[in-house]
Amino acid sequence: MMPQTKGKFGTYGGQFVPETLMPALAELETAYEIAKADQNFQAELSHLLKTYVGRPTPLSFAKRLTNHLGGTKIYLKREDVAHTGAHKINNALGQALLAKRMGKPRIVAETGAGQHGVGSATACALLGLQCVVYMGEVDMARQRPNVFRMQLLGAEVRAVGSGSRTLKDAINEAIRDWVTNVRDTHYLLGSVLGPHPYPTMVRDFQSVIGLEARAQILEAEGHLPDLLIACVGGGSNSMGLFHAFLPDQAVAMVGVEAGGCGIESGKHAARFAPPISSNSRPMMEARLGVLHGTKSYILQTPDGQIAETHSISAGLDYPSVGPEHAWLRDEGRISYTYATDTETLAAVKLLSQLEGIIPALESAHAVAEAIKRAPTMPRDSLMVVNISGRGDKDLDTMISHL
Ligand SMILES: *Cc1c(COP(=O)(O)O)cnc(C)c1O
Repeated sequence: MMPQTKGKFGTYGGQFVPETLMPALAELETAYEIAKADQNFQAELSHLLKTYVGRPTPLSFAKRLTNHLGGTKIYLKREDVAHTGAHKINNALGQALLAKRMGKPRIVAETGAGQHGVGSATACALLGLQCVVYMGEVDMARQRPNVFRMQLLGAEVRAVGSGSRTLKDAINEAIRDWVTNVRDTHYLLGSVLGPHPYPTMVRDFQSVIGLEARAQILEAEGHLPDLLIACVGGGSNSMGLFHAFLPDQAVAMVGVEAGGCGIESGKHAARFAPPISSNSRPMMEARLGVLHGTKSYILQTPDGQIAETHSISAGLDYPSVGPEHAWLRDEGRISYTYATDTETLAAVKLLSQLEGIIPALESAHAVAEAIKRAPTMPRDSLMVVNISGRGDKDLDTMISHL
């Protein structure tokens, strides 16, 4: 399953950027193709993933959760124990290493909650690269500790005061910076979004999650899992887990989006949720469109503006979704559902108390779906849930809600 033509996944994806960016994308695409095939590059990345990130991350059998739910055997893929506490470091290190190879000493990145900014700042500190992170003013106020972390790691955090002063505005500014400084700068994008080659490249850097999980479950159980579950913001941790299993038709996959306050409330980020048939005017609807250089589903207002989304977890609070997800959904290979904020908080509590693992609010969306499905599946079946990150960053939010 490769993109048919230049970064296209079916009708999704592509390169929708100003003319001035085309040479930079072409340069990046070529450099990535060469690096991907270069054993030295792959060996260097593997070495860092092992000795710095702590890979392979464990695949843990969740015995008490399994017994409690009384159905399928549940395994947890533990990205929460990766250095910096989430999967984002896998991609940040891969791209930072590539930038260095390309002779680009300066990195720009965008961040919403700050997780990708921290991942990028960490990779830049490790590899001796200059790092500038664009962050919306609203997000900076909401995520003070992560702003300080990035600064401590030597990054410059630039406040973005335009638009809604959140993630999508930060992405706009990062792209603007890249266009202006493309000679010495690489744009380190944080999910399977943006123009080609980003969705493919980020997926490749995250596919280590699924490659490990596949080998680990085969070693533990002797056969493949029946179901994989992961949360979907931009879509990188889910694509990272799913990719190695795509050819295995017997392995079902579910992506879990942010249901926020419920679909009917209009306060959510569930791009794939079926439209509600109420007579009240829908506040937003997912329609095909172009955002940040790629064609995919985008939550829009009735007059076609990018909608303001909502989720209790900042990492899932984005109006669009990676183009490969849109395609694999059309193909029927992956199905999508959502968990509400309330279900997510209940999942945080249950996993914490039964397994001693406090998940990130994003990851808890996947756990919420596992809680719904596990009792309906036979006891001799297997499920793998991706714990994309740890919950330390979310303690304030959890304290105010629990
Ligand atoms: C950023 C983030 C996500 C959402 O991003 P994806 O690209 O969909 O993976 C999920 N979990 C955690 C812990 C995150 O930091």
